[in-house]
Amino acid sequence: MRVRRDLLELDSRLRRQGELRVGAYARRAARRRLARAAAGVALILVALALYGILRPPGARNAQGFLVAARCAACGNDVLARSGFGQTPPLVCSACGAVAAHPLWVCRACGERFTTEALEDVVCPRCGGKRVGFEKP
Ligand SMILES: [Zn+2]
Ligand SMILES: [Zn+2]
Repeated sequence: MRVRRDLLELDSRLRRQGELRVGAYARRAARRRLARAAAGVALILVALALYGILRPPGARNAQGFLVAARCAACGNDVLARSGFGQTPPLVCSACGAVAAHPLWVCRACGERFTTEALEDVVCPRCGGKRVGFEKP
């Protein structure tokens, strides 16, 4: 009779320990979930901060950004609006044709030109390689 009670006690004690372990595990898992969520929020905040820092001041707004461009249709040098990820030709702000190509400028001779090339762009006047996009 006495042995049986001991066994019952042992059984309930083991059960309690099991529950304790489950409780501790659940708390640890909850803490891990919380840490992961906090890390995710921190990443988003860092991304937003970087976006704010790297964004050229005044050049962008919700609709995109302005690009110094030359229109192949009317020949004017214009400021064309480009959406994010949009590729040329852009809409000419002078005549409305979708024919405005970004203006490049040669740092060596000052030539301003347009090109279809996306890499290895060289100046058509002096052949210089120090070229870049004209600032709007
Ligand atoms: Zn035009
Ligand atoms: Zn040049």
